[in-house]
This record gives sequence, C-alpha cells and structure tokens, in this order.
Amino acid sequence: MNVKFETAFLKSVKKHASIKKLVKKKVDMIIENPVAFGEPLKGNWQGVYSCPVKRSFIIIYLYCETCRKKGDDAVVACSDCRQTPDQTIKFVLLGPHDEAYGI
Ligand SMILES: [Zn+2]
Repeated sequence: MNVKFETAFLKSVKKHASIKKLVKKKVDMIIENPVAFGEPLKGNWQGVYSCPVKRSFIIIYLYCETCRKKGDDAVVACSDCRQTPDQTIKFVLLGPHDEAYGI
C-alpha cells in the first residue's frame, strides 16, 4: 500500500496531540483495509472516505482505487490521481466533524 499524508493532515495531528495515539491506531486500521473502515461520502465528496476517530472527530482520506471506480476524476479532489498506483491512500484531513467539512 502506498500511503501519503497531506500537509493539512499532519498539521492537524500536531494540533490535536492529545489524541495522537488514537489517530495512529485508526490510520493503521485504514491502511490495512481502507474500504472496510471508512464511510464513502456522496455528492461533492464522491470518492472521499471519512472514518471517525472519536465522537464528532473524523479522518478524511482518499483511496485511489475508489477514485478510479467512480470513473470521473473531475469530482474527486485527488490532484495527482493519474500518477499514483491504485493501492494509494491519501490522508487529507483530521478534525472535528464540522471543521473537516468546512474546507
Ligand atoms: Zn486518487
């Protein structure tokens, strides 16, 4: 599995240092099985997964195999999707539910 962490995600991990261990655990679970642990979003968020870390606190990530199944790169906010292998996970954001969707 090819794993990428976006800058915004890493910044957020630092910001929420108190739950770092919890986040790490979730990240490991997602890497093992990105489809099983995430909830696929719809509409403008097609191809994007969210996974709760704790109450109202989520990880947002992309899984390129799913990006491609949607067959529409334009709707997926996966900038370098064409260059990445199918087995790529991009951790995009981490944060309280409302904040994460407010980008
Ligand atoms: Zn992608």
